[in-house]
Amino acid sequence: MKVALRVSKRARRISLRINQKGEVILTRPHRVSESVALHFLERKKAWVLHHLRDIEAQHARSPRTAWHDGGMIPFLGNHLTISARPSFRSTFHQDGTLLIVKARPDDHAGIARLVEQWYRMQAEAYFHATCHDICARLGVRFHRLTIRGQSSRWGSCSKQGNLNFNWKLMMAPSKVAFSVAVHECCHLVHLNHSARFWNLVNMLCPFYDEANTWLKSHGVALA
Ligand SMILES: [Zn+2]
Repeated sequence: MKVALRVSKRARRISLRINQKGEVILTRPHRVSESVALHFLERKKAWVLHHLRDIEAQHARSPRTAWHDGGMIPFLGNHLTISARPSFRSTFHQDGTLLIVKARPDDHAGIARLVEQWYRMQAEAYFHATCHDICARLGVRFHRLTIRGQSSRWGSCSKQGNLNFNWKLMMAPSKVAFSVAVHECCHLVHLNHSARFWNLVNMLCPFYDEANTWLKSHGVALA
């Protein structure tokens, strides 16, 4: 257990915090001695260990932990197995449920880079095709379509008719990726969240609420 000891002039009592990286931060007011603070930590040990295990379990569920040779990765509701082959003819190639990447099996960073690149390419193809279909049904056109990945945002639509989608949606079931595509394309008709907008969304995507609930409970693990 890694503990960062901090002294604060403003703190009025000893506080204990665990961040998402699993670091334990123990803050004590200036007037409280370090040994008193450590004694406080000792008494809270069970609580700390419980939370550390929780964070560890959350990280273990993150799909990125499988980005290595032989790892299973989710792709629109299916699963693919990564196979790292250093002398493969192309950078990556999907063969049935196998995703072959041109990398050494022990090159974790290299494999991870290629897997993300592959997901981004799939997202580009998926959202272009899907949005073309949806827009044809709506009788509208989008201007530009961009794949992003940094924010926790799943999709957006600008006044200029530009669509943005997060490549991490490729790790979700296809219904979920589709529902986000529908949401953003419907903004090309109504650039608001009015009743008319939601009617349109539900007409094109009857399972929208179900997909949205999935994203709310699993989205954090994807991002
Ligand atoms: Zn919206």
